[in-house]
Amino acid sequence: MDKHDWEGPLTEAYERATHYLEGLPERPVGPRATAAELRHELGGPLPQGPTDPKEVVADIAKGVEEGLLPSGSGRFFGFVFGGATPAALAADWLTTAWDQNAGLYAAAPAAAVVEEVAADWLKSLLNLPKQTSVGFVTGAQMANFTALAAARHEVLKKAGWDVEKQGLIGAPTIRVLAGAERHDTIDRALRFLGLGTDCIVPIDVDDQGRMRPDALAEELKQQVPTIVCAQVGNVNTGAIDPIEEICHLTKEVAKDAWVHVDGAFGLWAAVSPELRPLLKGIERADSWATDAHKTLNVPYDSGLVFCAHPEPHRAAMSVRATYLIHDENGQRDPLDFNPEFSRRARGFPVYAAIRALGRSGITEIVERCHAMARRFADTLATNGVAVLNDVVLNQVLVRFGDDDELTRRVVKAVQDDGTCWMSGTTWHGQAAMRISVSNWSTDESDIDRSAAAVLRCLAVAQRLR
Ligand SMILES: *Cc1c(COP(=O)(O)O)cnc(C)c1O
Repeated sequence: MDKHDWEGPLTEAYERATHYLEGLPERPVGPRATAAELRHELGGPLPQGPTDPKEVVADIAKGVEEGLLPSGSGRFFGFVFGGATPAALAADWLTTAWDQNAGLYAAAPAAAVVEEVAADWLKSLLNLPKQTSVGFVTGAQMANFTALAAARHEVLKKAGWDVEKQGLIGAPTIRVLAGAERHDTIDRALRFLGLGTDCIVPIDVDDQGRMRPDALAEELKQQVPTIVCAQVGNVNTGAIDPIEEICHLTKEVAKDAWVHVDGAFGLWAAVSPELRPLLKGIERADSWATDAHKTLNVPYDSGLVFCAHPEPHRAAMSVRATYLIHDENGQRDPLDFNPEFSRRARGFPVYAAIRALGRSGITEIVERCHAMARRFADTLATNGVAVLNDVVLNQVLVRFGDDDELTRRVVKAVQDDGTCWMSGTTWHGQAAMRISVSNWSTDESDIDRSAAAVLRCLAVAQRLR
């Protein structure tokens, strides 16, 4: 093996990658191979000796081909998945080539500075307070975890307890007031943090899944360490909690409480003059979690945590070890703000995405995803399909014939059809189909082709009844 032959495997990867990406617009949107076929294709005994890297790249690309879910397609509407813009994807390749360990300034000076610059841009885009500290994490799951670790630190500190030193055994009880329609990653973060899911007091929500401020006000009266978890962007409906009222009430009734906002995709509404009013009061929260791999369309994995109070953020995350070199000139060490130690320099693709799109380009993505979601909803509604939610952002929830079985059958038929891809869910006890428009490239023709496919599958499913 030639130690210096980078060109062979990288050229192979480049050609495979561009072939895949250029084929996305016309590729059937769904995996084609079964698990058994994939195992057959990719499995086999442990290689006992080396294989030429270029050949390995070609073999992997061939082996996985039929098992890829083309989630970067403009007609992929499953879960809440973004795609990848060209600049972000290319910068992500370079991130791998440079292979910087972005934990410390001393280990990766350029990565640390790029994070710092991108952090300032992000705060400006998302309308967050200037002093806010930022961590580049893997996704909103870890952003929620990091923010809630800072919250745990601060609410216990105010109760006279140092959780970083004393842990949770014997600590004052924490109550987490979170909407009944919160994302499951909140519960999981609380498990990781040793608070357990029993600390959650579910707060009543309205028909769209928004937290009801009157129900929150009632629970805030107990004078114990309290964290309020609000949400902007319900994973099914896209609904946004009334943040201004939540922050106002919390600061009024329980001034030592901490307000965290899970805004995995919804926080990006802040860049749009049209949608921004939905987030009124957002700057009054104490911490925010969002994703770069959803709305900003940065490749996986890329999440962002923001904390209005850098001290508890740093106190909850920072680490000192004798062999680590901390910069003496006050440069920012990324590991003070996220839970990883060694880590990928994931600030590079975020920086590239923002630089390539600019404020106007990001606004355009957010507003187009919203407009395309409305177009999808309107087309289906015109054809007699029930739209279950107010399409305030990029999420549409639909149900067919007021019938669980028919709805599930249509979801399955659409997935098999391959024109577009979406998933099912249960909303308020009823089966529904979720449509999430989160890809930067989705346009009118994608929506029209996809809506036609859904209606075609519906007609077939109805005939089979
Ligand atoms: C997607 C999502 C999450 C989890 O984000 P990951 O990036 O998958 O970790 C959390 N909260 C909400 C509201 C989401 O939509």
